[in-house]
Amino acid sequence: MPDTSLSPPRALRLQAAAPADDWRWQLQHSLTRPEQLASALRLSEAEAQGLAALGERGFPMAITPYYLGLIDATDEHCPIRRQVVPRAEELERVPGDLADPLGEAAHEVAPNLIQRYPDRALLFATDRCAVYCRFCTRSRLVGAGGGARPLSRLEPAFAYLREHPEISDVILSGGDPLVMSTERLTQLVAALRQIPSIQTVRLATRVPVVLPQRITEELLSALRVHHPIWIMTHFNHPRELTAESALACNRLADAGFPVMNHTVLLRGVNDDHDTLATLFRGLVRVRVRPYYLLQADPVQGTGHLRTPLTTGIALMERLQGRLSGIALPKLIVDTPGGLGKVPVGPDYVVARAPGKTRLRTHRGVEVDYIDPAPALQRQASSGSPCEVEVP
Ligand code: SF4
Repeated sequence: MPDTSLSPPRALRLQAAAPADDWRWQLQHSLTRPEQLASALRLSEAEAQGLAALGERGFPMAITPYYLGLIDATDEHCPIRRQVVPRAEELERVPGDLADPLGEAAHEVAPNLIQRYPDRALLFATDRCAVYCRFCTRSRLVGAGGGARPLSRLEPAFAYLREHPEISDVILSGGDPLVMSTERLTQLVAALRQIPSIQTVRLATRVPVVLPQRITEELLSALRVHHPIWIMTHFNHPRELTAESALACNRLADAGFPVMNHTVLLRGVNDDHDTLATLFRGLVRVRVRPYYLLQADPVQGTGHLRTPLTTGIALMERLQGRLSGIALPKLIVDTPGGLGKVPVGPDYVVARAPGKTRLRTHRGVEVDYIDPAPALQRQASSGSPCEVEVP
């Protein structure tokens, strides 16, 4: 039975007094201390222990009043709650755990700049986030207290980018770049735009999910002059698709920002096909492309949130054919050690023979795909596509 003895969640009471779109107010009133959370939620024993051990894990807590308002105050299994409320299990160590699962320290080519691929680099803009997700890959770094990096401190990273014109795509991450002031963020993007070889800037952010009030006209006007800027956001559950977050996503799309979503597959949050199907369809409705379904990285203290890889593959099997292509992300494993992302999924190739491949469809029907005859292939490869006659 739900416990009705609790007063309304503190967040809801706070929200009633808050200017609806004041993102600074949301940040100033974020819950960061155990006693604040205890007054808002009925904490379980495991949660109380997790809060008491926050210092021991060295990873802080922050929950915006808006995001707190999405949490079921009486259910410790609430999928929103599992993402942001610390638990005792965070102190456990399980096989495969790593402090730095993507080997970012080993790939730091300049202070605050990580390069794991020839044409892309990740720039740590700040260590601050609007919420601290308990599954965060960078829990060893974020929330450490440094805040937004001054431009002068990023100069060695800019120098590296200038000296490496093969890097054409820079992802601002951290921490969450949209938690920085508009002025600081715009200065940073403008500085990147001074480097001619950088074609695309991406902002990796959970702000549309946990602090949608931040997506203001002021922010969009300041950034849109520096297009192309892509937004890589991070919805994990359909309950995060609220009127506020939908407005934020639609504003971004209207202002010309392509918005792509990474969903992290999390045990007890979204590890069932109905939840994922609802989420991915909902994202498409607000013009966000479900891009990756990420196998959770093996970060220390997250064993209770991770699923076996077979779970993700089985989920993709259920979703294939049920969702349109624009709603179906790739299942990705970011390999430990920072060796790169690997797409995984159900195997639809049943058998291969010269000139013929037997495939299994999502309905379970097997069908042969016949390659063009070798003579036709030779004929095609000897011609140029430009020779095709246009009627
Ligand atoms: S917003 Fe991103 S960087 Fe910040 S804690 Fe969550 S997952 Fe980590």
